[in-house]
Amino acid sequence: MYIRLTPLLLVLAVGACNTAPQEAERPNIIFIFTDDHTTRALSAYGSQVNETPHLDRIAEEGMRFDQCLVTNSICAPSRAVILTGKHSHLNGQLTNGQLFDGAQQTFPKLLQQAGYQTGIVGKWHLRSQPTGFDYWQVLIGQGPYYNPRFLVPNDTVRMEGYTTDIITDLALDWLQTGRDTERPFMLMYQHKAPHRGWHPGPDHFEMYADREIPEPPTLFDDYSGRASPAAEQGMTIARHLNVNDLKLVPPSSMNEAQVARWREVYDPRNEEFHAAGLEGDDLTRWKYQRYIKEYLRTVAGVDDNVGRLLDYLDASGLAENTVVIYSSDQGWYIGEHGWYDKRWMYEESLLTPLLVRWPGQVEAGSVSSAMVSNLDFAATFLDLAGVEPPADLQGRSLKPIFLGEVPEDWRTSHYYHYYEYPGYHCVERHYGIRTATHKLIHFYTRDEWELFDLQADPMELNSVYADAAYADIVTELKEELARLRIQYAVPEDERPTGPCIPDERGAPIRNS
Ligand code: CA
Repeated sequence: MYIRLTPLLLVLAVGACNTAPQEAERPNIIFIFTDDHTTRALSAYGSQVNETPHLDRIAEEGMRFDQCLVTNSICAPSRAVILTGKHSHLNGQLTNGQLFDGAQQTFPKLLQQAGYQTGIVGKWHLRSQPTGFDYWQVLIGQGPYYNPRFLVPNDTVRMEGYTTDIITDLALDWLQTGRDTERPFMLMYQHKAPHRGWHPGPDHFEMYADREIPEPPTLFDDYSGRASPAAEQGMTIARHLNVNDLKLVPPSSMNEAQVARWREVYDPRNEEFHAAGLEGDDLTRWKYQRYIKEYLRTVAGVDDNVGRLLDYLDASGLAENTVVIYSSDQGWYIGEHGWYDKRWMYEESLLTPLLVRWPGQVEAGSVSSAMVSNLDFAATFLDLAGVEPPADLQGRSLKPIFLGEVPEDWRTSHYYHYYEYPGYHCVERHYGIRTATHKLIHFYTRDEWELFDLQADPMELNSVYADAAYADIVTELKEELARLRIQYAVPEDERPTGPCIPDERGAPIRNS
């Protein structure tokens, strides 16, 4: 069925022909992307808390990556890493607060030059306008869960309904009627869900109503086994969820009819809660249930909509020559260590889901434990399209791994760097290195270190940095960390820093 072309032949083919049959041989790419979806809320990864049958199809018919690590666990920086294939210090997006420099090289621009149609629909979150796309319709900033306004070239458009459904409708419209069917395409289909706010669609208000979701074993972590920053953050379920997060009031983006429907379901729940008069750990447990159920309901909305998209690909015949990739901008805490949010280099927010389906090429039901990263996505998309990734990209193509072979010189250590401090949730700046067995973290503005033995202590509860038995490993990891910082050309971070004290919502209190 497939004629496999080498990159060189593809370049020749593209150069020689305009609408040649070879064009049809290059695969389409659909990048399905969510915001803040942890692997532990995805049944393809063995979730203990929910089922995601449609996302699971991608894994069942393709490959699941168990070690996909982000370079900087926060929203806009992750998006910039994916677009550029470069670490934050080179693409300029260190934190959510900066404006993405859309003039720089990105993989969508390079795909355009190679004859691909490029599209993006849904969450963009990079403040500057999208560049490198033939078609774009993106949420403004974070965007609401209901009745969103979209940015389009030279205008904005408001649409009524639930955002996850609307984004899917727009993606399906473009696939069906908006694109040139003679050319291959790359579509970024990007959800806002399950980002904070966690407002489910009306179809899912009742989901989980009659069951308790299991608590993680570290819900009441006291952070005693760590360096100082873990205890100073503002992202706890116990103390930093507000009335909007807890659904004690209806979402402000709803219209009157939507609020009426919401009140039918949530008002009785809230009356029951107020009557119970919970305190202490019981109150934290109630907050956890309310938080996790709302989060999982928004995940269910994504899953249903991914099902609609996959069904369309099957029905249209597009599925056969389309690489479908699923990922999220980072991992997330669903109560582990008492937290929501992300940012830390700890496993829950370092790991992100990565599922890949490519019929006839990727073995169905396969699992890879190769240490891969969102740094690799740009090079991968280019390689899939037969475009040689430019030498300045810092990631590597995953295509050989898709096809079943991990290159012998594949990475065995991963570099991480988080910068947004002071900032939301007051998570201290840190960089570090993770190998298959250990993780060394440096909170560099206070020169504090943590070392975790991931085999002996997979939940990372006890730093063994000061343990003499690990002295050789510390030395070895520090050398490797220094080598990676040179390899990736990481400058010293000399921006002014803290202090940072979180308010009751997790926002930093700013003193004049
Ligand atoms: Ca995010």
